[in-house]
Amino acid sequence: MHIKKQRLLTPGPTPLYPPALHAMMASDMHHRTEDFRKAYRSCLADLKEVMGTSGDVLMFCSSGTGVMDATVSNLFSRGEKVIVCVAGKFGERWAEIAKAYGLDANVITVPYGQVVTPAQVQEALAKEPATKGVFIQASETSTGAAHDVRAMAAAIAKTPAIFVVDAITGLGTMPLDIDGWGLDVVIGGSQKAFMIPPGLAFLSLSPKAWKLSETSTLPHFYFNFKKEKKSGDAGESSWTPSTALILAMAEALRYVKSLGMSKLVENAQLLAEATRAAVQRLGLELFAAASPGSSVTAVKAPAGMDSGVIVKEFRNRFGAIIANGQGSMKGQIFRIAHLGYFDFADLFAVVAGLEIILNANGYKVAYGTGVAAVQELYERVAVQPQTVNA
Ligand SMILES: *Cc1c(COP(=O)(O)O)cnc(C)c1O
Repeated sequence: MHIKKQRLLTPGPTPLYPPALHAMMASDMHHRTEDFRKAYRSCLADLKEVMGTSGDVLMFCSSGTGVMDATVSNLFSRGEKVIVCVAGKFGERWAEIAKAYGLDANVITVPYGQVVTPAQVQEALAKEPATKGVFIQASETSTGAAHDVRAMAAAIAKTPAIFVVDAITGLGTMPLDIDGWGLDVVIGGSQKAFMIPPGLAFLSLSPKAWKLSETSTLPHFYFNFKKEKKSGDAGESSWTPSTALILAMAEALRYVKSLGMSKLVENAQLLAEATRAAVQRLGLELFAAASPGSSVTAVKAPAGMDSGVIVKEFRNRFGAIIANGQGSMKGQIFRIAHLGYFDFADLFAVVAGLEIILNANGYKVAYGTGVAAVQELYERVAVQPQTVNA
């Protein structure tokens, strides 16, 4: 047996930024001390900066779904009319949360791999002027598709509704001008482009979103936006926080700031573009061909090959964990992630490994075909070698 490095290459959890991991070891710290407040304040301020908003940013110790849930329970009331855009498994989660809290949801569903269009949202809004909110994924991680949230925001801004964007894999992979476009709630999570383990989720809130919290009557306790805002202003979290993750987050945010959020986005975009070029040159088909996003690229397995075989072989041959399709897409697609701490060296390896796996399973490709596409893009954009951790 030879060495196989374990490589986590899924679209969440994503590869970890080593200095952030090391920072977690300093978590022998009490959370009601100045040391902690310093880290927490830096986290909140840096999040605001990298998200590029003048609105409030709150952070919670939960996975992303916790803050999706909290957004409904803090801003809405039973029976209120909302529009839910569903283009995949995460959109379905919005619909389930809305249902759990008794909202009156108009669910716009499109087939997996496609996107809800701004025209569909505009039409639904026109039909129901009492709509209080529109829910969507900026990037639908289960299919690899990205929504045109900018155009949708322009339509929603003219109505009383707020625009609630699950940008858990959108942040750091696509431009999101929160204030400029009018994205009222933007939700992110630690285990995606922020390069640290799962367990923290955060959101930005516009004044229009805060206003809804004044009339909301849904019950909530642990996830309380108003309370958390007060605590955050005092440099603390309302309850005992995950100190280790907050120290990691502070470190990762310093890195993102030094890189620049736009560079983090560009990094994902370049890797996604190179991946699309590579798999297409290998004769494979993209799953979300019309609106591919840059957080993850979903690829259809060749006819007659279960995508689970590709996923399994990546693990067995190369110790690499890549993502299968979710739900009914399982076995049909595999997903190559680009969000956060991924680089061209990762992609050279993934595409070279894919070529080996395809060949071994009866789909013949000439070695180097896909890799060359990545190399050509690398050369074309002349990515400058960067000093690590400078
Ligand atoms: C990962 C993810 C979530 C959150 O899932 P959790 O398991 O709760 O962190 C939500 N939406 C999208 C689009 C995601 O990619």
